[in-house]
Amino acid sequence: MDVIYRYDPFAPLSLPKIPDSAAAIRRLVEGNERFSEIVRRMQLRTLGDDAGTPIVIPVSPISLGLPLYQGAMPSQAPFAVVLGCSDARVPTEAIFDQSFNDLFVLRVAGNVLGAEGLGSIHYAMAHLGENLKAVVVLGHSKCGAVTASVDAYLSPEGYTDIAFTYALRSIVNQIQIAVRSSAKALEDRAGKPLSEIREFRSLLVAVSVYVNAAVSALALQQEIDQAGRKDPKVHFGVYDFETVRVRCLPETGKGTSGLRAAPASGTDLVAYATEVAKTFLSLDDAVRDFNCMLTMQL
Ligand SMILES: [Zn+2]
Repeated sequence: MDVIYRYDPFAPLSLPKIPDSAAAIRRLVEGNERFSEIVRRMQLRTLGDDAGTPIVIPVSPISLGLPLYQGAMPSQAPFAVVLGCSDARVPTEAIFDQSFNDLFVLRVAGNVLGAEGLGSIHYAMAHLGENLKAVVVLGHSKCGAVTASVDAYLSPEGYTDIAFTYALRSIVNQIQIAVRSSAKALEDRAGKPLSEIREFRSLLVAVSVYVNAAVSALALQQEIDQAGRKDPKVHFGVYDFETVRVRCLPETGKGTSGLRAAPASGTDLVAYATEVAKTFLSLDDAVRDFNCMLTMQL
């Protein structure tokens, strides 16, 4: 199969501005849809099927955010800030099909929000504000940092082995609120102790990944609100390895992909954790295992 980047030397030298937060989020979601379509066709071809017609992506130096001529330097003009995990399998620009100069990216294990990350976001908002229309927190399935935090929760006696340095503890501890909220949501929905739920460890990791992204999104939205700004709006989602889609609820076959607005409060966060737990628990065993068990193959 062919994926063709077709250069157009006569493309306009300026790109249309992204007007608002909704348009910025749409651009990210549509980019992820393009990425997933490319992956889907690659998978078809790998299996020996016809991958269909070539995928042609029109490009120009401007659309790629590259210098128009030697010695030129484009101004920094990202339309979104993305806080993601450091996991090497989740390259932010690639999965949103974005290019140079499109995204202001912070990647920290477990997509947790620390002082330096927050400082970077303050910088972006202060100096890149004109173009910046959205802030996104991106978690991902199979997250090792979330798994470590789940293990610290389930086996406190192993905590020192899991988080043996101050810096590691700061990550594991930050994710604990998501893990505890997820455990409570699962117990409430299932009506029994966590340890009595089938495959509870992998299920808790799967739920916590979603809730952890929501926790960081809530914290970021509160920062923006406290600064007296009405935008950019914070959204969040989870990159799902199984479907290569960014989604705000687990795969159910009912179109739950996309990004979701940050919870507005702790109450909203608890309601979201309940919704994620309910969705996972509603899946058939085989489907849930497919979504959750692969999480543990780290
Ligand atoms: Zn991760």
